Amino acid sequence: MNRAEQNTAKRVEQARQLGQGTGGTHKIAGPPSRPCQDPEHNPAGMVVREPGMYEHICPTCGNKQIFTVPTMYF
Ligand SMILES: [Zn+2]
Repeated sequence: MNRAEQNTAKRVEQARQLGQGTGGTHKIAGPPSRPCQDPEHNPAGMVVREPGMYEHICPTCGNKQIFTVPTMYF
């Protein structure tokens, strides 16, 4: 774990404690220290995929995106 990750983990823990039982919106993580430059940060757009729900996790920053590929009718 590097320093930035430790700080984020600390903020997440604080937010969890603050948000406990209070409802409403609370911050769960700090902003990334710099924009992620990994070319695989976002799922490739020009790929034909089977219809369904997909999860893409950036190998560098761990950002998770869930997206769906709708069924195509021709
Ligand atoms: Zn990333």
